[in-house]
Amino acid sequence: MRPRAAAPVRFRNVTAVTVRVPAKVNLQLSVGPLRDDGYHDLVNVFHAVSLFDEVTATPAPRLSVVVEAESGLDIDAVPVGPDNLAARAAAALAAHIGVEPTVQIGIHKAIPVAGGMAGGSADAAGALIACNELWDAGVDEATLLELAADLGSDVPFALFGGTAVGLGRGERLSPVLTRGRFDWVFALADGGLSTAAVYGECDRLRAADGGPVPPPQVAEGLIAALAAGNAETLGKELRNDLQPAALTLRSSLRSTLAAGRDSGALGALVSGSGPTCAFLAASEDHARDLATALSQRAVAKSVIQAHGPVPGATVL
Ligand code: ATP
Repeated sequence: MRPRAAAPVRFRNVTAVTVRVPAKVNLQLSVGPLRDDGYHDLVNVFHAVSLFDEVTATPAPRLSVVVEAESGLDIDAVPVGPDNLAARAAAALAAHIGVEPTVQIGIHKAIPVAGGMAGGSADAAGALIACNELWDAGVDEATLLELAADLGSDVPFALFGGTAVGLGRGERLSPVLTRGRFDWVFALADGGLSTAAVYGECDRLRAADGGPVPPPQVAEGLIAALAAGNAETLGKELRNDLQPAALTLRSSLRSTLAAGRDSGALGALVSGSGPTCAFLAASEDHARDLATALSQRAVAKSVIQAHGPVPGATVL
């Protein structure tokens, strides 16, 4: 049996471990009625895309966080103290194996902050994998997934990667079969949207509407389109119950989505709680044309091309 690490940590002959973690887009985000515990039952089809943060764990006297970013990415809202989700992940793993979290977490961000692409969750997943490796802790995948779920509903998927259905709060994952690759364009907005505020607005709009909220169901047509690798059908099947709330809170997203549809996107939707908008293209060339068209129409702060599915957190 692998010996458990005991304080103080004996580092292997590594000075740093870097892990690459993907952003996600929700291909389906169906939100059930508000539960008594304040959560909603979700059906969440997550899809990992080739837009990556890098998380580096380096031995240090105490837990600290350093954040830098791609040029143009606003990281003012990213905490550098113990509230950073990656720091919380390192602390949770250290507590689990019974060591002090003597590590510096360096985060190189490319995933938009508060953009609905689960950047903070990605960083938490990256920190779990990086520290597990740095500390030679040997914590198995099932336990890492449990620690991840305690940190946040989207963290397990950032470990998992690929395409997956998440049930419950989104953390009970099963892989979804996909064929080939899907090409995407993401329109990044100026400033973020708070996930809690978007859920709150969703509840408010539904209460005002007064109609019953059905339990969420997996969209079988969407699953079939993924299995067939059919981007055209997938484009029509994309759905996000949070979109009306995100559009109410940020009305400029209506023209962003319309510009993508007018420019030939196979599908257009708000990513998660927004404000990033996602556009599905027919091919890499089509995505390039779509990205150019969106940039020219100046409906976003910046435009990024990516593809999915890609693997989850990976040691570099
Ligand atoms: P989701 O799609 O999971 O709802 P999001 O992509 O909209 O999340 P994040 O980028 O994860 O949003 O950030 C949400 C908030 O979390 C930020 O405003 C920030 O205050 C906090 N935060 C904590 N740690 C991080 C981190 N490592 N990177 C980004 N934000 C972080």
